[in-house]
Amino acid sequence: MKLESLQAAEKKLLLNTYERNPYLFTGGKGVYLHDEKGEEYLDLLSGIGCSALGYGHSALEDAIIAQTKKLIHTSNLFFHEHTAELALRLTEISGLDRVFFCNSGTEAWEAAMKLARAHSERLRAEGKHLGTKFIALEHSFHGRTMGSVSTTHKAKYREPFAPLIPTVEFIPFNDVAALRATFSDDVCAILIETIQGEGGIHPVSREFFAAARELCDSTGALLIADEIQCGVGRTGKWFAYQHYGILPDVTTLAKPVAGGVPMGAMLCNEEAAKAFHPGMHGTTFGGNPLACAAGIAVIDTIKRDGILDHVTEVGAHFITRLKELANSHDAIREVRGLGLMIGLELNDATLAGDIARELMERRIIINRTSDTVLRFLPPYILEKEHVDIAVDALDELLTLHATQASPVLAGDTSHG
Ligand code: PLP
Repeated sequence: MKLESLQAAEKKLLLNTYERNPYLFTGGKGVYLHDEKGEEYLDLLSGIGCSALGYGHSALEDAIIAQTKKLIHTSNLFFHEHTAELALRLTEISGLDRVFFCNSGTEAWEAAMKLARAHSERLRAEGKHLGTKFIALEHSFHGRTMGSVSTTHKAKYREPFAPLIPTVEFIPFNDVAALRATFSDDVCAILIETIQGEGGIHPVSREFFAAARELCDSTGALLIADEIQCGVGRTGKWFAYQHYGILPDVTTLAKPVAGGVPMGAMLCNEEAAKAFHPGMHGTTFGGNPLACAAGIAVIDTIKRDGILDHVTEVGAHFITRLKELANSHDAIREVRGLGLMIGLELNDATLAGDIARELMERRIIINRTSDTVLRFLPPYILEKEHVDIAVDALDELLTLHATQASPVLAGDTSHG
């Protein structure tokens, strides 16, 4: 298996949707991936936030292998032994009451949007007034399917697919006055990413979250928190909204919940759940035995091994070290994050692109989002020593770039 031959084959055979980095990974152990030549890479991205337990974790592997030998799939026409087991765990850790299983983040978000519409329809049938409008936030990212992309802010994701769902109004992030001015009983849901991920690692403010909760309570509209990137332990609590002490009516999760096996879920309270009846929503694969067995293994391992505390501790070390780095590098604009969801914003998009690429060349995997933000979403089992390796490499690279950007080179457009 050669990278070059795969690149050629994919170029011919696949739709032109991804610009992959030129690396071919064939295995992994712990927080390291290895390529086809056996070179190891420190993974600070975990497959965009999915491989929470890293690679080759025995609890996850054993659960998947055992379930594979028993039964991989049945469809939602029948019962299997793991659906309720995983749903119980998710309701216990989230504070919500009911679960709908699906296969990805965007599907979970579609389910939440449809639930909001069905909920407002149900209230209207009871004689209350509740409209069909969604309030979404600027810089939000909720996925790529038609409904999700209608609530995703960036023009490049939306515009090629117009017309989208028309009843979505975007307001500036964390702008409480705009929220109050836009909200009315025409709104069926306020949509919040508790910590914006693609948008550059920006936590929603306590004030904004509280105002959204209060407004939804005043009309019966749903407060929906997208925790697809920040949920299931990523920030050191099971859900990022738990840092605020505010419970949404609905939340969505996906990425890390089954440790890399595709799975998503929409969770909601009893009141919102009343809106769905058999046949209104569904999926063939959602919550199949294999994905549920993986999900149970992930949640039980996080609990058994005290991984939430570990995420808090290693995340705090990571943020402290990055803040120290910011003191010695003018190129760093800001360090943001919670637990192991961290963004390092640089002053310059070209520099951010260069640093991300050069870290890869040094076999440290990260990615860049929102042009200027280096994003870290490592496996939860990351140790402080791994953080130090990454921060030291960043320090060296930033120093190198600062030296190169000497007055002589400042006018050189190739460095622009
Ligand atoms: N919502 C958030 C906050 C995300 O970060 C993502 C993916 O990055 C999605 C939704 C979409 O998830 P998926 O790519 O699994 O469809």
